[in-house]
Amino acid sequence: MTLPSDVLRTAQSATLPAPGSPEYEEAAGVFNLAAPARPDAAVTVRTVAEARAALRAADARGLPVRVHTTGHAAGARRPVDGGVLLRTRLAGGVHVDPVARTARVPAGATWGEVVAAAAPHGLAAAHGSAAGVGVVGYLLGGGVSFYGRHTGIAANSVRAVELLTADGEEVRADAAADPELLWALRGGGGGFGVVTAVEIGLFPVARVVTGGAYWSAAHARPLLAAWRDWAAGAPRRATTSLRIMNLPPVPGVPPVLAAGPVLCVDGAVLAATADEEPEARRAADALLAPLRAIAEPLLDTWALTDAAGVLDAHMDPADPVPFVGDHLLLSGLGDDTADAFLGAVGEGSGSPLAVATLRQLGGAFAEPAAGGGVLDHTDAAYAYMGSGPPFGPVTVAALEEHCARVRAALAPWDTGRTIPSLVEGAGRPQRHLDAEQTAAVDRVRARLDPRGRFTGDIAPGATSSR
Ligand SMILES: Cc1cc2nc3c(=O)[nH]c(=O)nc-3n(C[C@H](O)[C@H](O)[C@H](O)COP(=O)(O)OP(=O)(O)OC[C@H]3O[C@@H](n4cnc5c(N)ncnc54)[C@H](O)[C@@H]3O)c2cc1C
Repeated sequence: MTLPSDVLRTAQSATLPAPGSPEYEEAAGVFNLAAPARPDAAVTVRTVAEARAALRAADARGLPVRVHTTGHAAGARRPVDGGVLLRTRLAGGVHVDPVARTARVPAGATWGEVVAAAAPHGLAAAHGSAAGVGVVGYLLGGGVSFYGRHTGIAANSVRAVELLTADGEEVRADAAADPELLWALRGGGGGFGVVTAVEIGLFPVARVVTGGAYWSAAHARPLLAAWRDWAAGAPRRATTSLRIMNLPPVPGVPPVLAAGPVLCVDGAVLAATADEEPEARRAADALLAPLRAIAEPLLDTWALTDAAGVLDAHMDPADPVPFVGDHLLLSGLGDDTADAFLGAVGEGSGSPLAVATLRQLGGAFAEPAAGGGVLDHTDAAYAYMGSGPPFGPVTVAALEEHCARVRAALAPWDTGRTIPSLVEGAGRPQRHLDAEQTAAVDRVRARLDPRGRFTGDIAPGATSSR
């Protein structure tokens, strides 16, 4: 392919910010402070031409390339140690087509930006729990949403991907143009090139019952049993999680929640149209009434609200924090599983994890998405995620040790599968595709990136070659 002369000039004149410069610090910053990126050079790219120039400059210096957006997954991916790191922050903003019910999202946009653009049209996306998570990293890794039992794994909502190859070629993958690449991008584990934009499907939302209710973890056993019993027959409009939390007494954490371990049930119940609102309320009541009857919540934020409220339900930290964690997909949640979970992370367990979560799957998560990507469903019944910050007396080693303890306790129900977006530690066992799928995705990578320039960006466990 021949590049236009202005592109060549940009490429030849590109300089790559070095450690110590403000540009480097901005581009290399990560959300997970426990996994700092230490590239030789780091650059924020705001246009396709800038991204292409950065790739050329990295090539000229013979340096490997990594790509990120927010660094929420910094601890889950191979450490960035040397090479050139591109932070994608492409200009243009989120553009919603209310008739087609799609959004074009430039790489670098966060889910908060998508929700803000879609909500005025009565539309929502299969976003995760935190407004600050980057759209591209979340979608490439699968994406497990509080709408997920309605939408399925979020990667399958991607209709098109715009990507810059290692050789600087702009490629668009959609159902008509390169469907094989679109298939591999949706959950294949990354490492194909620099994604510069995605087009995603949206769905109607009128109102949502969403929030979180918190109890002392002293009531964990009956609360967990009631939540699990409700989950067994829950409608698809409802997706929830149960968390055991050890929250520090810091600003932003209500003092009542920092007094000791608490159990939280949070999530979202969707009313796609105004007519569905009574049914959504009934579904939320069917979940919450039995829980509220067990004990009075310390705090209860569940309410009928608009789509933006879903981003507040989980109370995720907005600012960068250090954390170390683990993730498993579980086959079920019987009484023995619940005992094992609470024995490892509940009251009296000595768990240093700030949060130990069971996320409800099933519903659309369990059904292969029509025309979906390589990660088109999960058979697992629940996702486990647990993490904590290495602060004060809690060391990284203590967190690692406890992650191993939880993993051992839950081993009988561990499916051996993971979802890349939920993985919390690069070194943990992980696998989300079978051998045949992995080989097929590897063939697509080899076509797009024959020189292996993006190999470092492949999610651990997502390739047969490493
Ligand atoms: C507080 C918090 C809440 C979360 N909630 C959820 C949740 O509800 N559901 C869920 O599924 N996950 C959740 N996650 C996990 C999150 O989805 C992953 O960490 C995801 O990878 C973050 O995407 P990012 O682009 O922000 O992260 P980054 O760390 O910037 O990117 C992750 C990876 O994506 C790839 N990538 C990013 N941008 C590009 C690009 N432009 N081109 C090519 N490759 C790129 C790279 O391989 C990169 O290493 C949460 C994480 C945190 C910390």
